[in-house]
Amino acid sequence: MKCRKCGEKASINMRQHRMALCKDHFLEWIPEQTERFIKKYGMFARDEKILVAVSGGKDSLALWDILTRLGYEADGLYLGLGIDGGIEYSAESQRLTEEFARARNLKLHVIDIEKEYGHSIPVFSEISFRGKDKPCSVCGLTKRHEMNRIARDLGYDVLATGHNLDDEAAVLFGNTLQWSADYLLRQGPVLESKEGLARKVKPLCRFYEREMTAYSIMRGIEYIYEECPFAEGATQIFYKETLNQLESARPGVKLTFYLRFLEAKQSGDLFIQKDEKPPQLHPCERCGQPTSAPNLCSFCRMLEKADAS
Ligand SMILES: [Zn+2]
Ligand SMILES: [Zn+2]
Repeated sequence: MKCRKCGEKASINMRQHRMALCKDHFLEWIPEQTERFIKKYGMFARDEKILVAVSGGKDSLALWDILTRLGYEADGLYLGLGIDGGIEYSAESQRLTEEFARARNLKLHVIDIEKEYGHSIPVFSEISFRGKDKPCSVCGLTKRHEMNRIARDLGYDVLATGHNLDDEAAVLFGNTLQWSADYLLRQGPVLESKEGLARKVKPLCRFYEREMTAYSIMRGIEYIYEECPFAEGATQIFYKETLNQLESARPGVKLTFYLRFLEAKQSGDLFIQKDEKPPQLHPCERCGQPTSAPNLCSFCRMLEKADAS
């Protein structure tokens, strides 16, 4: 297998693109493509301040690396969630993230949830929901709240996360199986800012997971291999495996599934846009973030329950 650009020995063969590349050309191709997606979907401009949510995993560190290589002003945000998966998951992912930032002289904000609020994610999950709600939903709620808070307080224009195509296709697959119109309408590479919430973008949403793994390894990025012990429910993993089976029989099907969805959504063909009034939002009494609940946002309600127990 030869590199399409230089004819040297290829390091990666991407069947879905019918293209093989050598290491050097692959490491050029990924940022070039990212820049193209940033422009195509109007994610952010050159002069905007970007906050990258970094977890210590390959996707978010690769994203930070790519944005930096492209010359964007991108700082990192690491949220210490106090999750111990037997391997001290949180401690190790924080160490790798700090190491990454130090080696490249990048600015990293570290927020320790337990120090900030007095409770860790497992405690929130256990106490406030009696273990009924999965830790990942508590984790997601906490991450969203904290990312918004930091972006607002420190004046960032946009929040970037490392979701790749496999993540996005699995979510789309789940939402399609359920025909969850509300979720489908909201899914996409860009979630526009509204009422005090920063714009959210996913610059890696068109890259396959294996492309991001290859990129991280070839760039010598040290990342945490283990998934968060609470990560994604069994359903999400099952959807990913199902899509991978489809993909191996028909290379490119995952990308087509996602891109055709975005096109259909854009053209307005797929959905009847509802005229309904969006829910009335007002600032949470405690933290000031927009919420549709009467007094406190769902994060502050969770915090209140945990404090009271
Ligand atoms: Zn080459
Ligand atoms: Zn609140």
